[in-house]
Amino acid sequence: MPQQNWQPGKRVAIAGGGPAAVSTALAFIQRGYHVRIFERQAECRPIGGAVLLNIPVLAILRHYGMEMENVGSFTTTSFQNKKGLERAELPFNEEIERHMGIKGWQYGVLRSSVFQKMLDLLPPGVISNDHEVICYSEVPEQDCVEVRFRNGGSVTADILIGADGIRSNVSRQAFGDPKLFHAGVRVWLAWCDHIPGIPENYGVISHDRQYQASYFPMLHEGKPGFEWWIVESSWEGKPVPIDPQAYLANILKDWTQPLPRLLEATNFDTQVYRWEIINRTSMKKWSTGRIMCIGDAIQPVSPYAAYGLGMAIEDGYFLAKSLDGVNLRDSSAVNAGFEVFEKQRVEYVNHNMEFARFSGHVFHSLPWPVAKLRDWIFDYTPLLGNLLRKDYLKKAEEQTMNMKELHVI
Ligand SMILES: Cc1cc2nc3c(=O)[nH]c(=O)nc-3n(C[C@H](O)[C@H](O)[C@H](O)COP(=O)(O)OP(=O)(O)OC[C@H]3O[C@@H](n4cnc5c(N)ncnc54)[C@H](O)[C@@H]3O)c2cc1C
Repeated sequence: MPQQNWQPGKRVAIAGGGPAAVSTALAFIQRGYHVRIFERQAECRPIGGAVLLNIPVLAILRHYGMEMENVGSFTTTSFQNKKGLERAELPFNEEIERHMGIKGWQYGVLRSSVFQKMLDLLPPGVISNDHEVICYSEVPEQDCVEVRFRNGGSVTADILIGADGIRSNVSRQAFGDPKLFHAGVRVWLAWCDHIPGIPENYGVISHDRQYQASYFPMLHEGKPGFEWWIVESSWEGKPVPIDPQAYLANILKDWTQPLPRLLEATNFDTQVYRWEIINRTSMKKWSTGRIMCIGDAIQPVSPYAAYGLGMAIEDGYFLAKSLDGVNLRDSSAVNAGFEVFEKQRVEYVNHNMEFARFSGHVFHSLPWPVAKLRDWIFDYTPLLGNLLRKDYLKKAEEQTMNMKELHVI
């Protein structure tokens, strides 16, 4: 990279080349900083399958310059039991729709297409592939940080952002062993092409006593399709079924349509991913000195919140905003910016992370008689809807209303 694009006071080095990293890069570049992403793989690749993204995340991507047309498909979310009885519906917030100029709340998107669109927004020369960050050392007398790579190289930067995923080397060096643990759930994540006759803009999250089975419409490069997934309880070393298609078909055999039809329309060689969900305990501090960790490197979220990718993208945006205009050699200004960021993010993100873990536990780890009572309560009382509004939607909506610079009115 030419010298003029790597000036002391403006140098942001990012470990990892996933969504958190690319969002951080776009946000800092927009604010006039010089950014380099160091990704250990030969190319930046998204982890597979589909995801849900919500309005604030889409508004951030729009702010980076992403075209919103065909990015995804807005969805009404209905929580049901296996037989199709509705337990709760996530309401749309008209005020948010108006202020953000985006309809709905959650959008089904294919990761690979959204991530590619993010990569396309980066100017050339920002990403260095085959650069695995192995460690760093702060050099206080020169107000900088030295980042070292497995390939023997190194780079000097003003700040280092650890966006290197759940097994982050940066986070491990900064905060010690994360003591990762199995979150108790396994997710089968699948997608298929459009099937006529299934209502559009309508997604269902449904549970029986043991499993969650859900589907959402999505758009992939403007083409409609469906993402669907099954969550089951799991543990370290749980055997993997030899024939996933037969195994999942058996789970869905008496589930309300269209889930069994979606399974039939899915190519099990290329459109199904299996994940064991790994977690760490929440951290109260994400920074030390000139180092900040974001995304899964510090706050991996169980998919029960459907918000990990979204929060990783938000982290990058809020971090650059907190350091706007700061001379990055100035340690006290950097630390003050980091503090502003942490005040804005840590409690909010940890709340979502813990809510996701709690939900996974409630739906997949309760013993039989308690699970039966849970299902009765969710079927016949408004408790689930109240929990979702209070613990999932309320804070996210408040945050969205405060992102005034992204409002269209
Ligand atoms: C089954 C499942 C379903 C999910 N569903 C949703 C959903 O619906 N909505 C949602 O918002 N989120 C969802 N998530 C969460 C989301 O996928 C993650 O939170 C998101 O990918 C985190 O992004 P990241 O950039 O922090 O980390 P990652 O995506 O893990 O990227 C880290 C990058 O760093 C690189 N790297 C690692 N170590 C190094 C190193 N030492 N040096 C250099 N590079 C390194 C890796 O190769 C990778 O490219 C889901 C997750 C799972 C498992």
